[in-house]
Amino acid sequence: MSAANHLLCKIVYKARKRKIMNHRDFMRKAIELAVENVENGGGPFGAVIVKNGEIVATGVNRVTPNNDPTAHAEVCAIRAACTKLGTFDLSGCVIYTSCEPCPMCLGAIYWAHIDKIFYGANQHDAAAVNFDDSFIYRELEHKPEERHKPIENILHKEAQAPFNAWREKGDKVEY
Ligand SMILES: [Zn+2]
Repeated sequence: MSAANHLLCKIVYKARKRKIMNHRDFMRKAIELAVENVENGGGPFGAVIVKNGEIVATGVNRVTPNNDPTAHAEVCAIRAACTKLGTFDLSGCVIYTSCEPCPMCLGAIYWAHIDKIFYGANQHDAAAVNFDDSFIYRELEHKPEERHKPIENILHKEAQAPFNAWREKGDKVEY
């Protein structure tokens, strides 16, 4: 074998060994995690956060085992990715979630500045197995006073104090 051929074989071998994952591979990983999580006592949801083509963190739904209603797969993945990368800003990251994000997770994804969302199942598929968040989406379309959950504005003036403190703080970390 010529030296050039040998080198080519080495490169091909390395590329195969470190398989470049594509969008479908990352989504399959999220789906796989969601299926496994059902076995492990969690909800049927999984998420994967990717940066520069590599998995940074994963998350699964742990609402009932952790007694934490915010422990959705996407939120868990965001927390893990932020801890791993040592940042509150996931710009440059992409999230693959086994199911369309609920309003809470969608909000968390925006706050985390994740670049793009890929989802597998949609909110109607989730609703068919009693994970119906469509009513929260509908609530957002209503004025606060027309929502199902009572919401009342009190101490509006006094509640400006934290904003005044924030405005005046010189060394704040903006996000
Ligand atoms: Zn969610």
